[in-house]
Amino acid sequence: MKHLRRLCLWLFLAFPEAWAAQPNVTCSFTIPADWVQNICGQDVKVQALAGPNTDLHEFQPGPATARAILSADLIVGIDPLLEPWLNELIISNNLSGKVIWLGKPWISDGDDPKSASHACGSCKTDPHIWTDPVLVQLMVEKLAAACAQLDGVDPTKLAKQKDAYLQSIQELHRRLSTEFSKIPAARRIVVTHHNNFSRFAERYGIKVAGVILESATTEAADPSAKHLAALIQRVRSEHVSLIICDRGERAPAAELLARETGLPPPLSINLDSLDKPGTRGDTWLGMMNEIATTLITPWKELR
Ligand SMILES: [Zn+2]
Repeated sequence: MKHLRRLCLWLFLAFPEAWAAQPNVTCSFTIPADWVQNICGQDVKVQALAGPNTDLHEFQPGPATARAILSADLIVGIDPLLEPWLNELIISNNLSGKVIWLGKPWISDGDDPKSASHACGSCKTDPHIWTDPVLVQLMVEKLAAACAQLDGVDPTKLAKQKDAYLQSIQELHRRLSTEFSKIPAARRIVVTHHNNFSRFAERYGIKVAGVILESATTEAADPSAKHLAALIQRVRSEHVSLIICDRGERAPAAELLARETGLPPPLSINLDSLDKPGTRGDTWLGMMNEIATTLITPWKELR
């Protein structure tokens, strides 16, 4: 018995963190999970329900999703309109006290009449708000305030890690602003596959002249011949320089549009989830850098 007590004391002194309960933070997908990891480090156990390279719009929760939600101390989502499956699970399990919706002020609570042009089914605006570093800073602040309430999280360490992360976001934003401003405005005109790019575009002075799928999700049906004909017209009249597609999605309409208008093949970008670990886009900062490079490289070469 004495030996056992001594062993316990030794383990406690050697690995104090193993004795402090690590709270479970369960996030809807990889991007908010990356923010949690950056600001909380080892103080929490973080989990993303829709994993890397998973289309958030088509995610189907299974028994493992329900288990992860039930064992969570904090549940993080962007907005009930973007992740309706998460909202349903929260309501049916009576967990509304544990959830934080980071993007509500800009999606379901957003009442900007200008945004009506982005109309997309149930969302009034483009829900992909994590592509705007200015909004991301506000979401990270909100997330840090929620994480600071968790037992087992050291608030001083959290505040330091949050400040360092916010600084990296500000540096990224400054750099991208400078790089995009060097590209003549007449080149910064794109057509996108689904309505997921308007937040990034607005922040960096890029014009989205048209969207191929008439919805903010990837689940919409292929465009009608009439819509495609109108897009071909618009690509020509607005001097669109690039067509952007979602990585991993089949986009025959985008390829057809490129062929018909003589534009280069559609560029594939990833912004609906992070890439698998070990790739350049496996963090939010890496993903944002990748999006910028994918656009800026061909724009610099245009004459
Ligand atoms: Zn999307």
